[in-house]
Amino acid sequence: MELQFLGGASEVGSLGLVVRDQGRTLLFDYGLTPTDPPSYPRPAPMNLDAAFLSHAHLDHSGMTPLLSRLPKARIVATPVTLAVADLLTRDSLKVAKLEGYLPPYAPEDIRSLHARAHAVERKGTYRHQGIEVDLTPAGHIPGASMFLYRGDKDVLFTGDVQTIPTHLVGAAEPVTCDVLVMESTYAGREHPDRKETERRFRDKVAETIERGGKVIVPAFAVGRAQEVLMTLASSGYAIWLDGMARAVNAIYLSAPEYLADSRRFRRALDGVHVVEHSGERRHALREADVIVTTGGMLDGGPVLYYLSELYRDANSSILLTGFQVEGSNGRQLLDHGTLTIDEVTIRPECEVLKFDFSAHAGHSDLVNLVRATGARTLVLMHGDQREKLSEALGHECEVLMPANGERFTV
Ligand SMILES: [Zn+2]
Repeated sequence: MELQFLGGASEVGSLGLVVRDQGRTLLFDYGLTPTDPPSYPRPAPMNLDAAFLSHAHLDHSGMTPLLSRLPKARIVATPVTLAVADLLTRDSLKVAKLEGYLPPYAPEDIRSLHARAHAVERKGTYRHQGIEVDLTPAGHIPGASMFLYRGDKDVLFTGDVQTIPTHLVGAAEPVTCDVLVMESTYAGREHPDRKETERRFRDKVAETIERGGKVIVPAFAVGRAQEVLMTLASSGYAIWLDGMARAVNAIYLSAPEYLADSRRFRRALDGVHVVEHSGERRHALREADVIVTTGGMLDGGPVLYYLSELYRDANSSILLTGFQVEGSNGRQLLDHGTLTIDEVTIRPECEVLKFDFSAHAGHSDLVNLVRATGARTLVLMHGDQREKLSEALGHECEVLMPANGERFTV
């Protein structure tokens, strides 16, 4: 069978993998890179039969509305992924308008996608016109799935994968395959111990509040904000939540089987005050000990309001919880101690720390995942240091590191 990356082979973003086998054309993920302006993968083939979405993050799902313009493509994902992807793609149109660039699709494309969407529950199987694809949990975020395509060979596509359980979602459940197409975000890098990270995070929150400050926790709306809220559950502090995470919570609450412990998730949210509209932000700022808010990289969203009010307060702290891409405000804060808001650069006096709450498997976890699947061929994608995994596994299986656009056979 023939494989081809439309994007996302050697970088994190714009992922799309075309599989051509026995006269069928399938696509696994179709994302964009949410920079300003975003970058996009190559166009999807016109004769696409089905597209499989591993999860809702925009680097995996952000281009799917465009697939509604193809003559026959079906869109397959878990119901949670379909619902959250709908939310995120709508939001990306709003962001395009705010930032002043042309979006790659229109609201009608997002609406048309509904007629093409085909939900398959976790651990279910998609069967249509001889195509058979099994879903198996990927960890990462609720609803995230790996896909096992049963063709000429069995091909497992991981999407993003986390092999340790988190508060929010259980660990990935790998299955055996001939060919493994695996993400490599953390190739060559290990995560610090998760429990230790959480302990340091909770200690820093306590220390900040004891000295009279407030804690700002910038967090991505999908997955990270919820994980942070569960980490702080039953702390007794006044916790406020602002941004799109609220809508994501509602989707997660409606699909308890996708959560590691839905009762604990519900209890964690019970103690959280929600900012319902922008007029409430002043109130939140007065009442809160901790504010969990988007955007996770400080490039937009309500976090900028809170930071512009609090940046002179040396007692307060900014606790970053996610990856800060080069060129983002969050990266600028970590590297230079400054932030740019409305074209004005400020130097916050708050304490700034970063915590590794990553939802991706680290290097050793990825190596173990490959071994667990028994794959004889490993295709590495979605990483800029793929050679680190190739060095670790090259003597155990065939390792391919294709370039974007290159057609290769497995
Ligand atoms: Zn992801």
